[in-house]
Amino acid sequence: MKAYTYIEKGRFELREKPRPVLEDPRDAIVRVTLASICTSDLHILHGSVPRAVPGITVGHEMVGIVEETGEAVGSVRVGDRVTVNVETFCGECFFCRRGYVNNCTDPDGGWALGCRIDGGQAPYVRVPHADRGLCRIPATVSDTQALFVGDILATGFWAARISEISPEDTVLILGAGPTGICTLLCVRLKHPRRIIVCEKDPARIRFVRGLCPEVLVTTPGECRDFVLRHSDHGGADRVVEVAGADGTFRMAWECARPNAIVTVVALYDAPQVLPLPEMYGKNLTFKTGGVDGCDCAEILRLIEAGELDTTPLVTHRFPLSRIDEAYRLFGSRQEGVIKVAVDTAE
Ligand SMILES: [Zn+2]
Ligand SMILES: [Zn+2]
Repeated sequence: MKAYTYIEKGRFELREKPRPVLEDPRDAIVRVTLASICTSDLHILHGSVPRAVPGITVGHEMVGIVEETGEAVGSVRVGDRVTVNVETFCGECFFCRRGYVNNCTDPDGGWALGCRIDGGQAPYVRVPHADRGLCRIPATVSDTQALFVGDILATGFWAARISEISPEDTVLILGAGPTGICTLLCVRLKHPRRIIVCEKDPARIRFVRGLCPEVLVTTPGECRDFVLRHSDHGGADRVVEVAGADGTFRMAWECARPNAIVTVVALYDAPQVLPLPEMYGKNLTFKTGGVDGCDCAEILRLIEAGELDTTPLVTHRFPLSRIDEAYRLFGSRQEGVIKVAVDTAE
């Protein structure tokens, strides 16, 4: 099969590889039917993920059909249509039992697929701990509807959950890229009093306005004043920082009211400064990423019930044979691209 492979910094290529096989009784082999490209894939391409292993197949956002299961797999069967979780976790260690699956202590635990082991920008993928990492897709939910459940939608859902949002809150979301938009859709399920989105890209602003007309939109330059004018207690009650750009960490805590919760989902390229003397007395609570992606079944139920729909994010589609082009487009942010779906059929 052809698999999109991390060769070295700056170079991914479609390479011929053997189909994956079961290596452990808890593994499953999934025939990938639809995959996507994530910003984290670009981070690997740019060499900013040191633990990424050259030679691995990239891709950690995908859905597919179970092709084969190890003898210890009980929650899915051959032929099931499934989402694949970006995180591998055992479900049994100290952290997993508390829902902190991102910190699973299993050797394969955490972000392994498409980083340390072969991922899903290929026709087939081996999924370790398949009972935890695979979720059956309801019959009425399409592959496109389920495509982001295991990664960016899981992230948005987790960010909204840990932000402890109540109906009186003004929630500020920094960044309206794909993960920011998923966060917005999940924050909306909490029905806060208002949601403010801060984004600098005009195309993304238009996208947010089209998708969620009731949301207030501002830009980085005017964000602080805008939030002051549109909140009840001198700042946002909840801030979710998804942008990870220069200055957005500072903006996050500056726009927060005293005693607010600031949830940092963003993955920064550089260290950030926490100037405690400047924020003394503001008594903020900071929560930091990455995602504990263990709510996929609940997310699928919300999609099935029509409460969550991320299909508008799929702005472009490519076959696997043209994945180089798909990466170029996704990386360039041209043509109004939000997310690219890759058809991985052989
Ligand atoms: Zn990702
Ligand atoms: Zn674990």
